[in-house]
Amino acid sequence: MLYYLLAPNAGRQSSTQREFAIMPMTSFWTYFPDVAAMETRTVTFRGHRTIPDGEYGLLELYCEELDCDCRRVIIDKLSAPPTRIWATINYGWETVEFYTSGSGDAEIGKQAQGIVLEPFGPQSPYANELLEIVKAILEDEHYVDRLRRHYTMFKDAVAAGHEARRNKPRGKHEAPRRNRHGTRSARKS
Ligand SMILES: [Zn+2]
Repeated sequence: MLYYLLAPNAGRQSSTQREFAIMPMTSFWTYFPDVAAMETRTVTFRGHRTIPDGEYGLLELYCEELDCDCRRVIIDKLSAPPTRIWATINYGWETVEFYTSGSGDAEIGKQAQGIVLEPFGPQSPYANELLEIVKAILEDEHYVDRLRRHYTMFKDAVAAGHEARRNKPRGKHEAPRRNRHGTRSARKS
């Protein structure tokens, strides 16, 4: 699991707060391996002037935080074996205002919106060039629709998993409650 320290906890924080939420970003593949196998976009390079030949997958990571509607995807550009991350790209499809109001911080709002290299993710010397290629791919609105659909599927699966754990018949077990920052608040250590 990769953790990124950037995204706003959209709509969950008061306007006076400027806290960054630490978001657990998890691969779509973890929840939906069959769909991911069919619907993960790949790009093949042959004889490109800088990027090494090979097939590259656009691995999607979404935020696994319950009650967080951050509406963004992290795209890790992976090569086929030997597997390596070539670029980590943030794509937030809502408006700057959406992310700004969620975080209470205009700078975060600007960073979370659009297609940018993820400042906390692994990159390679090819990252900027790959970013431009991903930007071109994201002009395909069918692909954007697919990402939004995957986001919804992912969030539903996270919620369903949480519900299932909550409903487990386990006597005195009390489900952990989460506060608005998504951290567990009821657990006593
Ligand atoms: Zn989130």
